Amino acid sequence: MAIPENKLAFEGGWQYSPAPESIDHINLKTKYDLYIGGEFVAPESGRYFDTVNPATEECIAKVADANEADVDKAVKAARKAYNGAWSKMKAAERGKYIFRIARIMQERAREFAAIESLDGGKPIRESRDIDIPLAAAHFFYYAGWADKLEYAFPGRKVKPLGVAGQVIPWNFPLLMASWKIAPALACGNTVVLKPAETTPLTAMKLAEAIADAGLPPGVVNIVTGAGQTGAAIVTHPGVQKVAFTGSTKVGRIIQKALAGTNKKYTLELGGKAANIVFADAAIDQAVEGIVNGIFFNQGHVCCAGSRLLVQESVADEVVQKLKDRMDTLIVGDPLDKNTDIGAINSPMQLEKIESYLEIGQQEGGVMHQSSCALPDKGYWCRPTIFTGVSQSNRVVQEEIFGPVLAIQTFRTLDEAVSKANNTPYGLSGGIWTDKGAKIFKMTQKIRAGVIWANTFNKFDPTSPFGGYKESGFGREGGLHGLDAYLNLEA
Ligand code: NAP
Ligand code: MG
Repeated sequence: MAIPENKLAFEGGWQYSPAPESIDHINLKTKYDLYIGGEFVAPESGRYFDTVNPATEECIAKVADANEADVDKAVKAARKAYNGAWSKMKAAERGKYIFRIARIMQERAREFAAIESLDGGKPIRESRDIDIPLAAAHFFYYAGWADKLEYAFPGRKVKPLGVAGQVIPWNFPLLMASWKIAPALACGNTVVLKPAETTPLTAMKLAEAIADAGLPPGVVNIVTGAGQTGAAIVTHPGVQKVAFTGSTKVGRIIQKALAGTNKKYTLELGGKAANIVFADAAIDQAVEGIVNGIFFNQGHVCCAGSRLLVQESVADEVVQKLKDRMDTLIVGDPLDKNTDIGAINSPMQLEKIESYLEIGQQEGGVMHQSSCALPDKGYWCRPTIFTGVSQSNRVVQEEIFGPVLAIQTFRTLDEAVSKANNTPYGLSGGIWTDKGAKIFKMTQKIRAGVIWANTFNKFDPTSPFGGYKESGFGREGGLHGLDAYLNLEA
């Protein structure tokens, strides 16, 4: 794919030479079946759908479309494995399998990273340095817990739940799969997982890794398909626990479907996080944090800093520095190591983002975009900011899930808090200030599951993650993430 000529904001202008990650080393099939009971099996319907590279619009592979009968087969395979080998195995042995998956993932990290960028459109720098290492870290971390669960919950009897049904989105495909599978296995459950329709490939590579790790058949089953496949997992009577990450809209449908059942469930949903910059902050550092929080990974991040609240006295300076920095960002080939902003994941998502660009302007917001060139083919969006917006504007209230930042100002700490809290969401937030006391005050007042101070979007498998309000409930990660996969008895 041709690398666009990116206009850089330096006097005289200069460009980076292309630095594409090689894809010679990756091994992809042209067609992927379902991974059920330790085998790759064709879907009952015989139907397959295309998974597309959003940077080239070309089909990468055909992927099986699982229907209710396939899901039923997968749940039965998971139940059989749960009743059989998996629950009879010593916890320390279970841990060894999970460690093995982690090590295979590390060995194949380059391949996983390249496929993640090909299938999903995220820059290789992100998939190589963040997604894949963090995914492996989750397996390592939870492997360690497998034989120590009684110490995690002293005085309580711990019991696995049974079969966990897991449905994940397209923005962190392998990371979300790992985030779900690792704790489920460590707690002794078996799994049926569905990746998102537009990003199924690393989940299928994970299925290969799991097969190579020698896990007993049926402990992990991976079925691909669209929303209906997800619904079939969620509503299957043989599933004891549902773990969902995705939009608040689908989260609501799932919650309704589960009402009145005794299934345990966690919902990790949308967000509209604010980065709050006080006048005493290190401004250059804050600008870098804002850019990292909303533009990298195309804003396809649930906890993205999609709002900026900046103290009035430094607002002009921050916005100008942000504009300068935006002009240096490279939008283009996700496989190029220089790329900052890759492809938008799908034409549907691009359409959604573009509709918000219209809405934002119609509501009276002032839109500014960087001036970089875009490739001819594929789905792209320039980094975009809106100024002159108010709290009731839709671009301030609603999750856009693209590289679009809504900027507002504030005068006092209380005003910042009330604006930050004034959306239906509460997933994350960021505070930029020189004063520790201000950080503590703010973190107590902001209703969000994760708050970063003088940094943004930092993750670790040991810390819990989850939302307030319409961002969902239940926690994943850390010790809290175990709780969601266990029955705790007195
Ligand atoms: P989505 O449309 O809700 O889809 C999520 C998953 O659910 C996909 O696998 C989807 O299948 C499936 N699905 C769709 N309809 C379903 C139904 N009726 N029953 C069961 N499953 C169904 O979300 P998305 O657009 O893929 O992802 C973006 C959203 O995820 C954003 O709102 C983002 O904030 C959120 N997110 C949250 C977190 C968090 O931890 N809080 C993390 C990442 C992302 P298809 O792919 O076929 O549609
Ligand atoms: Mg794709």
